[in-house]
Amino acid sequence: MQLEEIRTIGVVGAGTMGQGIAQVCAQAGYKTILFDISAQVLEKAKQTTLKNLDEGIARGKLTESDKDAALGNLSYTGDTLQLSCDVIIEAVVERLEVKQSIFRELASMNPPGTILASNTSSIPITQIAATIPNPERVVGMHFFNPAHIMKLVEVISGAATSPAIAQTIKELAGKLGKTAVMAMDSPGFIVNRVARHFYVEGLKLLEEGVADVETIDRLMRASGFKMGPFELMDLIGVDTNYAVTASMFEAFHYDAKFRPSRLQQQKVDAGHHGRKSGKGFYIYE
Ligand code: NAD
Repeated sequence: MQLEEIRTIGVVGAGTMGQGIAQVCAQAGYKTILFDISAQVLEKAKQTTLKNLDEGIARGKLTESDKDAALGNLSYTGDTLQLSCDVIIEAVVERLEVKQSIFRELASMNPPGTILASNTSSIPITQIAATIPNPERVVGMHFFNPAHIMKLVEVISGAATSPAIAQTIKELAGKLGKTAVMAMDSPGFIVNRVARHFYVEGLKLLEEGVADVETIDRLMRASGFKMGPFELMDLIGVDTNYAVTASMFEAFHYDAKFRPSRLQQQKVDAGHHGRKSGKGFYIYE
């Protein structure tokens, strides 16, 4: 499929990332349908989109008519049968079997030309595509958080991905106002592989009692990082960040440098998932 042929985009998963991805697709003029299994998550995504667009107007980046156009392009559904689209971007939980099962279902109800893109942070695209008919249309399209602001998108080609499809997704990222970088398939791709140690070492410092959460974050900010590891994990989602580390630990054959922290696992077990749950390493109103 060529860029000019893309009219409709489906986004599967309306959580932290899916909401923002759907927003940028709608703002770029694509008819966008956002799907989630949870009606509550869909409602929250709707409210967040409105808030983001209003903030864009307040900052002078958007006009009222930009907002109306974006909202006119967006629809929400809890029915998979509605996901008949030219491109579908998956942004559900970081679990291989869930992503494979969704892609198999989407592949069975869409023509072989529909592009199936995953926003996975760490799972090899080759593994996601392995059980999908026409795996050449499966590609990584990795946005960064918050998706409506961060410019970078990694476009990842699995072993079966067609170079023409990867190119179309790179061009689509450009149409969405993003800067795309091509990457070959490797656990964590480029950014997450480098960044993993930011979180893993921060958690080790905390576990060893070297410093507390606030001090580590403050020092990392003072040394030039925009956010420290703990406030960033709360923004990403402690559960998502933990799942990404666990997936990379396995993918790198249990290399100790990627070992997930028990302290982080405990937060996940307790439901302290960060900003989205009101509590993580910090407490949110
Ligand atoms: P999230 O937990 O905020 O949202 C995931 C959503 O998926 C939830 O709303 C859930 O209801 C939905 N879901 C679960 N199973 C589903 C199914 N079978 N069908 C449809 N929806 C389903 O997660 P997130 O942080 O948005 O992460 C989503 C993906 O994006 C993951 O692969 C993650 O690695 C990746 N990612 C996350 C970030 C980040 O900073 N959070 C950044 C880049 C990429």
